[in-house]
Amino acid sequence: MSELSRFSRGWCSPERYVQGPGEFDNLRFYTDKFGKRLAVFIDRFLYEEYEKRLRKLYEGLDYELFTFAFASEVTEELIAARTAELEKASPDAVVGVGGGKTIDVAKAVGTRLGVPFVVVPTIAATDAPTSSLSVIYREDGSHAGEFFYDHSPALLVVDSRIIANAPVRFLVSGMGDALATLIEADSTRKSGTPNLVYHTAGGLKQTLAGQAIAKACYESLMKYGVLAKEACSQKVVTEALEHIIETNILLSGLGFENNATSGAHSVNDGLTVMENSSKTMHGEKVAFGCIVQLIAQCADRAYLDEVLDFCMSVGLPVCLEDVYVENSEENIRKIAAASMHSNWENMPFAVDEELVFSAIRTADLYGKKFKARWQDEI
Ligand SMILES: [Zn+2]
Repeated sequence: MSELSRFSRGWCSPERYVQGPGEFDNLRFYTDKFGKRLAVFIDRFLYEEYEKRLRKLYEGLDYELFTFAFASEVTEELIAARTAELEKASPDAVVGVGGGKTIDVAKAVGTRLGVPFVVVPTIAATDAPTSSLSVIYREDGSHAGEFFYDHSPALLVVDSRIIANAPVRFLVSGMGDALATLIEADSTRKSGTPNLVYHTAGGLKQTLAGQAIAKACYESLMKYGVLAKEACSQKVVTEALEHIIETNILLSGLGFENNATSGAHSVNDGLTVMENSSKTMHGEKVAFGCIVQLIAQCADRAYLDEVLDFCMSVGLPVCLEDVYVENSEENIRKIAAASMHSNWENMPFAVDEELVFSAIRTADLYGKKFKARWQDEI
C-alpha cells in the first residue's frame, strides 16, 4: 500500500495516560509491564535530582537503569550514537524525563531500538509529549526536520506537582499552543486536510473523536485557563490546574495530531526567522498566530475578541511588540514569506504571501488597540 485512502478516517493516541500529584513516585508500577531494564534520558539541569529519585524508586529489586543527562540538540548523530550504546544494554523501554527535546530523543532512541517509549514531562509548555514525532536539529541549533513514527508513546506519566513547581510561563505558553487546536482543526476539517495519523503515508481524515477533543481543548482554556495560571504561580495544584495540564498536554496533543495544523503554526514558523525569536516560546508565537489566522479567515468578531480577551487574561501575546518584532513593512514581509513554507495550504481557501502580510498588519493593529482598551478597563 503506497498511499492511504482519502475516504478513510484515522486516530492515534498514547496507549496509557496518567496525571496527578505525586505520580512520579508511581513510575515503577507503570513501567513494570515493560520489564526491568530501563534507559532513561533526563534534562541535564534536572539530572541530579531525578536520577536520585529514580534510583530510590527502583533500588534493590533487580532493576537496571541506564541514565543519561541530556543537554544538547536532538541531532541525527546523537540519536545514532545513543542507540548504538544502548544496543548492548538492550533495555526493555526508553524513558524521557524533562522538556520537549529530552522527550524527543527518548522517542527517537526507543523507536530505533524497537522498544516502547515512556514520556514523563516536567513542564506543560507544548503538546509534544503525546505526539508520535521528534523534531530534529543540526549541531548549530537550526531546524533539520522531523522524524515521524507509526506509533505513539506507550505511556505518559504526568506529575501535576512537578508541573505546578515549574515556572508559570511554561504553563501559559502551553495554553498558547493549545489555543490553536480548535482554530486550526476547524480550518483543516473544512479543507479536508489529512491528519498526522500515518503521516508518512499521507495521513487520514479527521474522526469525530478528534473534532470533539479540539472543541473540549478550547472550552477548557476559556473555563479554567485564568485560575490554572493563578494556582501555578503559587506552585499549588488545584482542579483548574489539573484541567489545564490535561488540556496542554493531552487534548492539545491529540488535537493537533488527529486534526493537523494550519495558519497559526505557519505564523509561528514565520516568526522563528526573526532575530528575537528565541525571546519567545513556541506557544507564545502560536498565540499571535491564532489572531493572524482568525483575521485571515475573516472570523466572527465576537470569536476573535474572545480569543484576544483570553490571551490578555493569561498573558499571551496579542501584537507584534509582544513577540519582540517591530511593526515595519520589511519585518512583516519577512515573517509572511517564511510562513509560506509551512501549512497555510491547509486552510479552506487560497492563501498567498500578500494575504498573510495583510492579516499580520491588521492583527497587530487590532491586537494593540484591544490591549490598550483591556488595560484601561482593569
Ligand atoms: Zn505547537
